[in-house]
Amino acid sequence: MLAGRSGTITQGSFRVIYKLGRANKLRSRIRDETKIGRGDTESGIRCARMRKTSACCGQLAYKFSSLRRHLNLSNLALDGGKRVILQPLNPNRPVALVKVAPSVTQVELNRELEVLGYAFPFGPLVSDVTIAGAIATSSHSANFNEPSMGGFMTAVRLIDGRGSVRQFSENRTPVVMKALRCNLGLLGIVFEIEMKVVPLETVSVRRVFTPLRNLFKSHFLRHLVTKNYIVNVMYGAYNSLTEEEARWALETGRVPRTWDSANDLVLLQIINPSSKSVNLAIEDKRPESAPNVTVVSLGQTRFNQLLSAPAFVISNLSQATHVPAAVLDKTEFSEYTIQHSTFTEDAKVLKVLSSLLNEKSYKKGIQPLQLGLFRWFAGANCFLCAGSATVGRNRHDKTKDLGHFASFHLHDLVDSRQDIKRARAFQTAVIQEWDKIGNFGRPHWGKVLQVFPNLKQRIKLSYGLDLDIFKTIRESLDAHGVFTNAFLRYLFDIKRKIR
Ligand SMILES: Cc1cc2nc3c(=O)[nH]c(=O)nc-3n(C[C@H](O)[C@H](O)[C@H](O)COP(=O)(O)OP(=O)(O)OC[C@H]3O[C@@H](n4cnc5c(N)ncnc54)[C@H](O)[C@@H]3O)c2cc1C
Repeated sequence: MLAGRSGTITQGSFRVIYKLGRANKLRSRIRDETKIGRGDTESGIRCARMRKTSACCGQLAYKFSSLRRHLNLSNLALDGGKRVILQPLNPNRPVALVKVAPSVTQVELNRELEVLGYAFPFGPLVSDVTIAGAIATSSHSANFNEPSMGGFMTAVRLIDGRGSVRQFSENRTPVVMKALRCNLGLLGIVFEIEMKVVPLETVSVRRVFTPLRNLFKSHFLRHLVTKNYIVNVMYGAYNSLTEEEARWALETGRVPRTWDSANDLVLLQIINPSSKSVNLAIEDKRPESAPNVTVVSLGQTRFNQLLSAPAFVISNLSQATHVPAAVLDKTEFSEYTIQHSTFTEDAKVLKVLSSLLNEKSYKKGIQPLQLGLFRWFAGANCFLCAGSATVGRNRHDKTKDLGHFASFHLHDLVDSRQDIKRARAFQTAVIQEWDKIGNFGRPHWGKVLQVFPNLKQRIKLSYGLDLDIFKTIRESLDAHGVFTNAFLRYLFDIKRKIR
């Protein structure tokens, strides 16, 4: 897999040239980092008589390859069963850390931290995700300068494919940590995560409405995204339809050409430390009340919900950045992430979305787009994170600058197979248009991947050598493929050796 080689990967309009003169060195580094070492516990014991996997008397018996092993569960719990342990700032520790059990959710973590004066605001929008699940899929927030969640992880303890308890850390095993930052559950069962957290602060949350067409201007986007701490752009489609246009759409099944999505309003949710003086310089076009227009699309309903949130609140950081999953129930999601180079490119992506929505609406009526969500975040030092720069793509590794990424999310509320089919067809059509303008967007691992054309080829070309390195690490930690599933085996060409 990591044979010494050099070559060219064609990646959309990019040509990535990579050289791997140091393949052998890297291979031996991976061997070093993944071999059972000091601090790891070879805790499994053979138990040929056990027939079934069972948990009893504080011991977990389970089958890894042909071995059956027993683990003492108390060895896998944090300090006698705690779920969160804070290591606060002090003169010798410039960064606050928490050790957290994998099944702790963001909301639980933040509740524990809040009492102690800390927060973790850099996870996904939805508060109910688990820390291990969100890291495994490289979930991220909307802070231009902060990476996806794995970027905050400093150490991990897990059970590998042989049933051994292993520990990895940023200092001792940086290559394995780079794989763990988006592990897709393929590297083992994570049972302890150590990650950085920040002091809790009070923030101001402003909600400003502006026409979608303003986002087609690169200087508008640059100012919005780089001058504020966290920015979520939310678009409930068709909110500028007039009553006459809505009725026309109902009667004819098509949207009249007098409507233009560029005139729809988008919500800019802008979060800043309350201590910071902010000059937004954006005129708020918030209507005084919800439009009194016949509802013909889910986007209009979503817009009215967005409108009902207050224009300005002071909140604490962790509460301001997350919403409960119930708010987004029954949603079909896809997310297209591109490496942000200039805001001109990002503006083009939004313009293409608007043009496609117009054309499809004029010809085929209301389209299945309940919400568009647009966010920017920083790159992570990670092999498979959607927000990570590929080896050979740039020199970020040397400068410690891991780049920035823009993500464009398409949501639709679905209630039937038919709805799912329609939503996916629309999302694929949008992605094809985005590809055509020279992007080669990556999917979010925790959302719908099937809407991406040529998925397997896309993943292979887009991650290139990083995917090969990840696969080598996976093979070292789980040679028999006990943590694989059929989909990932197909996607990554993994052969399962389990008996
Ligand atoms: C409503 C909603 C909103 C979302 N918003 C955002 C967003 O704003 N930003 C964003 O980036 N993403 C977002 N996502 C994606 C979401 O963050 C991911 O799908 C995340 O993985 C969900 O976490 P979970 O705890 O439900 O994961 P699970 O489904 O429990 O886990 C996901 C995967 O992680 C692995 N895993 C879980 N636990 C372990 C463990 N202990 N050891 C090893 N592997 C493990 C497994 O492979 C598992 O399949 C959203 C998803 C939803 C449903």
